[in-house]
Amino acid sequence: KESNMPATRGSKSDSAPVELTSPGRVVYPDSGISKAQVFDYYRTMARWLLPEIQGRPLSVVRCPQGAARPCFFQKHHTAGMDRVQAVALEEEGGTRADYLLVNDEAGLLELVQFNALEFHPWGARADTPDRADRIVFDLDPGPDVAWPQVVQAARLVRARLAALGLASYVRTSGGKGLHVVAPLKPTSPWAQAKAFAHAFAESMAASEPLAFVATAAKKFRKGRIFIDYLRNGRGATSVASFSLRARDGAPVAMPLRWAELGRIKGGNAYDLVSAQRRMARMKSHPWGDYARRRQDLEGVGRALAGQG
Ligand code: ATP
Ligand code: MN
Ligand code: MN
Repeated sequence: KESNMPATRGSKSDSAPVELTSPGRVVYPDSGISKAQVFDYYRTMARWLLPEIQGRPLSVVRCPQGAARPCFFQKHHTAGMDRVQAVALEEEGGTRADYLLVNDEAGLLELVQFNALEFHPWGARADTPDRADRIVFDLDPGPDVAWPQVVQAARLVRARLAALGLASYVRTSGGKGLHVVAPLKPTSPWAQAKAFAHAFAESMAASEPLAFVATAAKKFRKGRIFIDYLRNGRGATSVASFSLRARDGAPVAMPLRWAELGRIKGGNAYDLVSAQRRMARMKSHPWGDYARRRQDLEGVGRALAGQG
């Protein structure tokens, strides 16, 4: 590994399977899905999910009392996590703290044993935490926005990015919206990625003011889509493709081919059952060459400013 790889600890070398306790406990009361079914979901989907989270600082949403009860967002490594690694990273204020880092199926399943339902990686690798390797535009429809408008918005984001020379990929969030993701060379300082994402969102809102807003204030969102660029900063996360969500119906964040988007019924179109069925049939990742794409933001920001 590179010399600047932060110290990790907590990785047990034994290969014993992760023990599952309370397998019969109901996690999704509305659909009767048990902890064992969640565990099976993640074991089956590990080959798809692991590449999304491996080597990245990770946050999880843990729901000890199930998805219908209060859950909490955890970013730090805690006692008892033996199969999950810890990566010491600098936080705001200059202190260091141990972040979660999963590199294998045992780490993933141990977090599921700890009642993690959702997995939210950084947009950066643990060995280069100050450099983005992707940009995520999180499309958040306000009240009174019909689904076809969200689809249209995602396509417009794609077209605008393409005009700047950036390829992008789409997934359902498992909630209300869609995420449009552009992979980068892992060398883009956060300041650059963030400035570009912000300027891009502002330019969308300026040219399509009836469709988009780029301000987080809820009062402007009625009938519009908030193009949430705030996922793009050091320490910010977005949900991993193939993660379950802690919401009714056990929905899944699902990557799509752009050509499929028109057939999708909503941000929560895929659930624990249909996601497994879909991916069992899928030979390669719906995002195709995503993992090998390394795009450069050098010049792209200037092109955007030039379009002004
Ligand atoms: P939806 O389509 O319903 O908006 P979403 O996953 O995009 O689903 P958002 O509320 O827009 O949900 O949140 C975007 C991202 O912000 C999440 O995917 C998550 O990674 C991050 N996030 C959510 N809750 C927290 C939290 N409590 N602390 C830090 N980050 C969070
Ligand atoms: Mn969102
Ligand atoms: Mn959002």
